Amino acid sequence: MTSTIDGRKTARDVRSKVAEETASFVAATGIVPALATVLVGEDPASAVYVANKRRAVRAAGMRDVHRALPADATQEDVAAVLDALAADPEVSGILLQLPLPAGLDSAALIDRIPAVKDVDGLTTASAGLLARGAYGLRPCTPSGVMELLDAEGVTVKGAHAVVVGRSELVGRPMAQLLLRRDATVTVAHRHTPDLAAVTRPADILVVAAGVPGLIGPEHVKPGATVVDVGIHRTGTGLTGDVRATELDGLAARLTPVPGGVGPMTIALLLANTLRAARWSHGSGR
Ligand code: ADP
Repeated sequence: MTSTIDGRKTARDVRSKVAEETASFVAATGIVPALATVLVGEDPASAVYVANKRRAVRAAGMRDVHRALPADATQEDVAAVLDALAADPEVSGILLQLPLPAGLDSAALIDRIPAVKDVDGLTTASAGLLARGAYGLRPCTPSGVMELLDAEGVTVKGAHAVVVGRSELVGRPMAQLLLRRDATVTVAHRHTPDLAAVTRPADILVVAAGVPGLIGPEHVKPGATVVDVGIHRTGTGLTGDVRATELDGLAARLTPVPGGVGPMTIALLLANTLRAARWSHGSGR
């Protein structure tokens, strides 16, 4: 029997815990954690994502700050908005919604966000803190995967974890987080010649390749825990990087798409915003 990992339930649990802890933090300090979202341009998908994040922020009892810039905003325009938010003591966290319109240098703009406000965990400084195992804010999607593994009681220490994908957003920080929890970690990517040979020994297989249906039974050891970070819109609905139905009875646990990793990302964004507020208040560590 393959059990389906319920990301919606765990995300709800994380969100209610964050809301409770936010209320205690506000009561103790008088500071309301605030997340500033920055949206550049009119990409409809980005607008929906930002609206969802803002709603979740308000539902957690935090303050929602929003800055919208036109699609023809210059590098300097966006930089000025980020710098003002960075300097504002009432803003706990800053999220620059990606992708940015063509012509803007995302990496340079992201790096204007101070580590203490980097709720997406994407700055060079945050990546360095993660690599060092120092206090800092971790990228939301891989943190969400760790929360899911913990909620399911999956043993990470000593497990062989294989991560498919090495992006800055998911694969790389995912490997780092697993390593910090004492897994033996292998990272596969598009130049890995025999993917199945690399993934088959995995006790924990995390797939973040952005390739629909990449992973099937030939890639999975019986009894493995399989986490599908991929999400693709098809004519018949949403699907992931894993051919989920083909793993039924083979994997011990599997995250569904939708309803697996997806809902965790926003929950961890809220957790990071509270963490950022505590950190800048000096009550973080
Ligand atoms: P995300 O941000 O969701 O992780 P990206 O598109 O930025 O997605 O990165 C995709 C990653 O997946 C890259 O590191 C790439 O090397 C890896 N990848 C893509 N195709 C394959 C494949 N066929 N086998 C293994 N890894 C792959």
